[in-house]
Amino acid sequence: MFENRQKRTELSELGEFRLIDRLTKSVATRQKSTVLGIGDDAAILNFKKNQVLLSTDLLIEGVHFDMSYMPLKHLGYKAIMVNLSDIAAMNALPTQITVGLAVSNRYSVEALEEIYAGMLLACEKYNVDLVGGDTTSSTSGLIIAITVLGEAPQKNIVKRSTAKSGDLIVVSGDLGAAYAGLLLLKREKEVFEKDPSIQPDLEGYTYVLERQLRPEARVDMVERFADLNLNPTSMIDISDGLASEIIHLCEESTLGCQIYEEKIPIDPQTVTVAETFNMHPVTCALNGGEDYELLFTVSQSDFEKINGQAGFHIIGYMTDTVSSKNLISTSGEAIPITAQGWDGLKNKETTRET
Ligand code: ADP
Ligand code: MG
Repeated sequence: MFENRQKRTELSELGEFRLIDRLTKSVATRQKSTVLGIGDDAAILNFKKNQVLLSTDLLIEGVHFDMSYMPLKHLGYKAIMVNLSDIAAMNALPTQITVGLAVSNRYSVEALEEIYAGMLLACEKYNVDLVGGDTTSSTSGLIIAITVLGEAPQKNIVKRSTAKSGDLIVVSGDLGAAYAGLLLLKREKEVFEKDPSIQPDLEGYTYVLERQLRPEARVDMVERFADLNLNPTSMIDISDGLASEIIHLCEESTLGCQIYEEKIPIDPQTVTVAETFNMHPVTCALNGGEDYELLFTVSQSDFEKINGQAGFHIIGYMTDTVSSKNLISTSGEAIPITAQGWDGLKNKETTRET
């Protein structure tokens, strides 16, 4: 659908070392903690007094992304975002990444450069250093394994397990849009496969498409929390849908919860798309995934700090009834939250990040 390669250099023309050089030639380092970046057997980092956070994510072609609708540059950008989001979810700032790449000869050097352009754009925007990686061949498809490091003073770090009963449950932005974007892209792919002369009809859906193709990790929230002098009591990023993430917070904190359907922030474009596909918009928010917003809890005594703040949506509260995690519907009915399939998504395909 997005095929427009002009020049094609085969990977075999370059060989591993020249490929690495070509992909990393414009890499600069910015972080104080980066002592030595790409080029030696290992990077050297110095975090002084801060705690170091470390997380890794694997992205597999055909499982987590589909090349037929994922532009290469966006793929690179998103691969970084998925990782930065995990560090933001600890209330820490990302500092370095390494990139493991396994690539089949189906990919040209130019295609990999395009992926790297997206990655480096993300690194620049979020002030993260690319300090190393590994490059090897794959017999089928593309595998991207990214490891991210972050740092934070120990007192700022927020875990999943430390929510308290009565804490308010808050979301940093609207949910379900990335899934709505995916629904549209899949539909257009099917149409295109049946008749390649039909142009994609994606007019008017920029927001949900961007949420799917070019998500932003909420690293900005880490700074917001600092500005507000607010430490969430627990936090997780929303990669798999609100339902599964709220269950994680409850289980790790040994608590229950009550969230309110009418409080879940959903963009009007998401509502339109969901309705087109005969889905309840709330299902997209609960089970769609890939929103990369933050889900966190705050003590009731901090209510004034977040009250009226743009982008903070209070959707419910934690309870000490471990066995009940409920969604209160608009009609007042209590529906138990399950990780998959509050309704229509039971047969959802597995093309999503984890
Ligand atoms: P080694 O043989 O020790 O694994 P490599 O030749 O694989 O070293 O890598 C040389 C340098 O290039 C190292 O600093 C490594 O971290 C870096 N590097 C290798 N592949 C990548 C990649 N895909 N992206 C970024 N840096 C890479
Ligand atoms: Mg190597």
